[in-house]
Amino acid sequence: MENLEYLMEQNPCLKRLSEGKEVVWMNPGKIPFEEAKNTFPLTEEDIRDAEERLVRFAPLIMKYFPETREQGGIIESPLTEISGMKEVLEGRYGKPLRGRLFLKEDSSLAIAGSVKARGGIYEVLKHTEELALSHGLLQPAESYAALGDQEKRKFFGDYTIQVGSTGNLGLSIGIISAVLGYRVIVHMSMDAKQWKKDLLRSYGVDVREYMSDYGEAVKQGRQLSEQDQKSYFVDDENSQNLFLGYAVAGKRLQAQLQEKGITVDREHPLFVYLPCGIGGAPGGISFGLKQIYGDHVHCFFAEPVQAPCMLLGMATGLHNEISVEDVGLTGKTQADGLAVGRPSAFVGKVMGPLLSGEVTVEDEKLYRYMKDLLDSQDIFLEPSACAGFQGPVSLAGTQEFEQYLKENGLENCMEQAVHIVWATGGSMVPKEVREEYCAALDGK
Ligand SMILES: *Cc1c(COP(=O)(O)O)cnc(C)c1O
Repeated sequence: MENLEYLMEQNPCLKRLSEGKEVVWMNPGKIPFEEAKNTFPLTEEDIRDAEERLVRFAPLIMKYFPETREQGGIIESPLTEISGMKEVLEGRYGKPLRGRLFLKEDSSLAIAGSVKARGGIYEVLKHTEELALSHGLLQPAESYAALGDQEKRKFFGDYTIQVGSTGNLGLSIGIISAVLGYRVIVHMSMDAKQWKKDLLRSYGVDVREYMSDYGEAVKQGRQLSEQDQKSYFVDDENSQNLFLGYAVAGKRLQAQLQEKGITVDREHPLFVYLPCGIGGAPGGISFGLKQIYGDHVHCFFAEPVQAPCMLLGMATGLHNEISVEDVGLTGKTQADGLAVGRPSAFVGKVMGPLLSGEVTVEDEKLYRYMKDLLDSQDIFLEPSACAGFQGPVSLAGTQEFEQYLKENGLENCMEQAVHIVWATGGSMVPKEVREEYCAALDGK
């Protein structure tokens, strides 16, 4: 790390970042989508394959989770315009937000109550399909609902699924795996909230707790899983399957925008703001959106001021070879879903030519966004899930953003812009914990 000091001196944004202050960072590595298109390890075809797999599993999902019946076993969330929240934000932060503001409510996704219902569940289903096909559990053209039959379910009991998590990934992997019949071990970092561990144990999941951070919990899980031939480890740092599960969101969102009569093109830019932890969820979703809208979609990530691992990894080009601790940050945040000190190098490299930029946010602001959304729209999100609001709030009016608009020829299109804040979790938070979160702001 000998050149780290030099990097900090060269880059005022990194210097502010290392001081734990809120920053706006525009990605100098972004290039036109047409040029970036052929450099990726994954393709549109891979996303289609993932989408089709989710359709094959829909009958089984419906069987186990009746709440998904209305959507035919497809796990998807609403897209909601939040004009009330837009007004509150404009008033509170004193800047106009040009265009319309929407919320993508992954906070209410079935089964896991968070964005992890996309990647996490997809990866377990993919593994299940591989096992089922290689062991002759499914006849050609047989409905996947058959995998819920007693003796087939028993088959999965010989196999173990393991994962390291700060909470929500463990919830998603744990619940789906337990319901399908697997043995499950979830390795939880110290950031994980108690209610998430309790809920998993109620499903019979073996929850192991570590007094260390997320990286260490992952390491433990990976090691333990490697010792067992019948164990499968969901690797949040490197998994292309998780990434593809998230990427399916692109086409789903496209259908929702079309349904609302919303056009996305040169004159009608789409801005998407995504909370980022290790990077898989926001990276996968952005990747899916880029495949559809190319240069007309502008993706921004948001991270806590003490855990901006993706920004640090991308801005230095060091990816997972640098951690937030290396620049004097703690990695600690109330936003448990984002409490990650070292990013996924796989995601950082894919996003290198695609990402528009990043913002960082103080914990207290997350609680403020949470409360303002609850008051103005009657929608509850957990603090991690509110980070996306920092995008439009923090970017509006800055020199960096004005410059970005100019470079992309967007100065005169912003009245027609659509902004989507990606809400990543919250519907499963127990009532008492919600009240605690709301009380945390009182007196501030
Ligand atoms: C996991 C998570 C994220 C970010 O996902 P990563 O894949 O870790 O980047 C954002 N919000 C919530 C609520 C999460 O649980």
